[in-house]
Formats: sequence, structure tokens, C-alpha cells
Amino acid sequence: MTYRVALTGGIGSGKSTVAEHFAALGVAVSDADAIAHQLTAADGAALPAIAAVFGAEMIDPNGALDRARLRGRVFSDPDARRQLEGILHPLIRARMLEETARVSAPYALLVIPLLFETGQQALVDRVLVVDVPEAVQIARVQSRSGLARAEIERIVASQISRAERLAAADDVLDNRGEASALAPRIACLHRRYLEHARHQADSSRAELG
Ligand code: ADP
Repeated sequence: MTYRVALTGGIGSGKSTVAEHFAALGVAVSDADAIAHQLTAADGAALPAIAAVFGAEMIDPNGALDRARLRGRVFSDPDARRQLEGILHPLIRARMLEETARVSAPYALLVIPLLFETGQQALVDRVLVVDVPEAVQIARVQSRSGLARAEIERIVASQISRAERLAAADDVLDNRGEASALAPRIACLHRRYLEHARHQADSSRAELG
């Protein structure tokens, strides 16, 4: 069984940036957002269920999800949003497990932005939280996407609080500083995870033997 580490954190905290570092170290990275995108691209596995629940008009002429239309549909309707999550989350979860079940890398990093909000901690052996204060999240998302400040604040408010996220972390990576400060600290976490993965492999061999 592959050793699995979840990487989570609020919007703009630096998850993608951190995941790239781990990938460069040879870790198998599986990204929940990227999978959600594949599931709703042309011929994506989530489309039949989405069309059945929300109507065939949610699929565009190219056979992919009309994201803007569906977003408009679920934006102010919590029941519809829950229905959509009920379709997507089990598929994302299954695909992440599939992707990380038999990797040749020493361990897998699962990037799951809404790990705690969706109660998926049981999927992983360890949780790494990338952390910055809310003001930094807002500033970085603003310069990344040009999204309106009020919209970013709304997204931040819809996610679990910083304090709760930190309380549930096994490891915390502070990303307040320069991006160049990340590499040595990620290398240190990587050594720790290699050690844990080796330990887990040894004990499952011992159980079998
Ligand atoms: P997430 O994936 O958590 O939403 P990103 O990794 O996309 O966050 O980071 C948000 C933005 O902030 C990106 O534009 C990224 O390049 C930038 N960024 C990440 N870490 C730092 C840092 N330490 N200093 C400055 N900018 C950063």
C-alpha cells in the first residue's frame, strides 16, 4: 500500500507551488482539482450523472460541461450544490485512490484543497497544511487571478478556518516568506515522509511474513 500524504490549505496558500516541489523530488502527485477538471471535460466520467440531475443543457456542443452554466445553477442553491458534490466527490476520491494505489514513487502526495471540509482525512496517512494568514491569501489570489476582493473573501469565508486547519495538521509549512524559502523546508519534509513510507513498508512486510 502506497504511503499517502495529503497536502491542503486555503485558497492561495501555495498548494500548487508546494506540490511542484514535491513532484520535482520524484513524489507521485495526484491533484483533486485536476481530476475534477478531467471528470467534467469532454466524455468525462461525471457527465452522464450531471446531465441526468441538472439537464442535458449543462453539456456544451463539444460534449464537455458548460461550467459557467452549472456554476450559475448551483451558486445560490445549497441543495443543488450538495447534489453536485454528491456526484463529483466519490468519483474524485476513487480516481485519487486508483492513481496512487500502485505508484513506483516512494510515496504519494494527494493535493486536496477541501480535505477537512469534505471529511477525507481517512484517505491518507498524514496531513500537511500549507499556511499563510488570510491577508496574504487575499493578496496572492488577487495578483494571480485579478478576482475581486469581495469574491476572494467570500471563498475564504466558505472554507474551514485557519485555526481549525492548523489544529488538524500533522505538519505545517509556513509560506509567509519568499517562495525561495520553501525548497529546504520541503526537502526536510520529504526526508521525513520517505522515512515514514519505509517504516510502513517494513511493517506491512513483517505482518505478511
Ligand atoms: P493554491 O494552489 O493554494 O491556491 P498557489 O500555489 O497557486 O496557491 O499560490 C497562489 C499564488 O501565490 C500563485 O500566484 C503563486 O505563484 C504565489 N505564491 C505562492 N507562494 C508564494 C510565496 N512564498 N511568495 C510569493 N508568492 C507566492
